[in-house]
Amino acid sequence: MNTDVFTTYESNVRRYARSFPTVFTKALGATIWDEAGKPYIDFLVGSGALNYGHNNQNIIAPAIEYLVGENILLSLDMYTVAKREFIEVFVDSILKPRGLSYKIQFPGPTGTNANEAALALARKYTGRSSVMAFTNAFHGMSLGSLAVSGSASTRELGGVARHDVIRVPYDGYPSKAFDSASYIDFVLGDAGSGIEKPAAIILETIQAEGGLNTASAAWLTEIQRICRKHGVVMIVDDIQAGAGRTGEFFSFEFADIDPDIVCLSKSLSGSGSPFSIVLIRPDLDIWNPGEHSGTFRGNNLAFVTAGAMCKLWSDTQFTAGVQGTAAKLQRHLDSLVAKFPTCVEQKRGRGLMAGLKCRSQAVVGRVHDVAFENGLLIESSGPNRDVIKVLPPITITDDELDHGIAILGHALKEQVNEH
Ligand SMILES: *Cc1c(COP(=O)(O)O)cnc(C)c1O
Repeated sequence: MNTDVFTTYESNVRRYARSFPTVFTKALGATIWDEAGKPYIDFLVGSGALNYGHNNQNIIAPAIEYLVGENILLSLDMYTVAKREFIEVFVDSILKPRGLSYKIQFPGPTGTNANEAALALARKYTGRSSVMAFTNAFHGMSLGSLAVSGSASTRELGGVARHDVIRVPYDGYPSKAFDSASYIDFVLGDAGSGIEKPAAIILETIQAEGGLNTASAAWLTEIQRICRKHGVVMIVDDIQAGAGRTGEFFSFEFADIDPDIVCLSKSLSGSGSPFSIVLIRPDLDIWNPGEHSGTFRGNNLAFVTAGAMCKLWSDTQFTAGVQGTAAKLQRHLDSLVAKFPTCVEQKRGRGLMAGLKCRSQAVVGRVHDVAFENGLLIESSGPNRDVIKVLPPITITDDELDHGIAILGHALKEQVNEH
């Protein structure tokens, strides 16, 4: 496998390339092939950016048609037919059936662009500077998002001070016994707490990079109540957990909440094309024209593929299929936990955003290597990198899912035999 051009010219910063030292070339559904023709089941899916699988025909066919038609590809924030159609289908297939009403902001195309816009708007709206953010949070790699992220290595990046962030314990942190919602409610109301009222509380309903920690429906409902009580904007960063990952379109549907601001990206385009939006409670949309900007806000190819993805959610056969796959994955993981207690501590996550908390980082490293050897891509997460992320496409076939889980089971079994 020729990797000379990468090792010679590409920056040392590359990471996944070291984790999967081969050269990939083709992909379809849950399978990705390297140059030598070896297939791998993909349980990483672009870190949650390919929830609908690689080259999903329902999504790619309209894109091909669009590309050959001399249609507009980039439009800043001008009106285009593709953008109009995306907004219509997003409202009709996603927002209305869920009883949600939001204005849609199109920031730059990455997840962190959406979070930066959300944080800026909450600060503008409230006139306050600080933001409450949670332990083990991950919100992106630009300064505002880095500031609200929890991991030490992430926070140190950039070498400048991170102001205006109040760190608070996530649901279940540091232990199930601690009631973090009550704590937040109390300090926001107590003149002696030393904690000023924040502009916003930003949270993930499942902390993907933070180790697949899940917030309960009760906790999320309570955080929403606390935000309303204290006049604090509730921002849900649904960049990785949203767009279908949990088995429902938004990750917070199970809690029956309607956050003030929701950020979506990663799988939003359905195709791997960069795209993000910020959903804003209508009365909060106090932006002045042009006040927030970005060159790549008008990725029309993403409008087309995102629209095709959203349409899938109006198909009850599709949604039932996703729910069934989520339940099946959960059963698979339960059985791995039961079979390999010396390697695996517990199941983590929810729906198809799932994982296995292992006994050590070393176990995860070895499982990863054996799995790769046998044709499965998995990655680790968590502050100690001891959680295996299991993120198959939500459209994965039963056979592919069984096959991927079998490879994972085999890799775990080898650890038990050797150690
Ligand atoms: C990936 C991710 C981001 C950042 O998105 P980028 O596109 O990498 O900027 C933010 N929040 C969460 C929860 C993510 O998973």
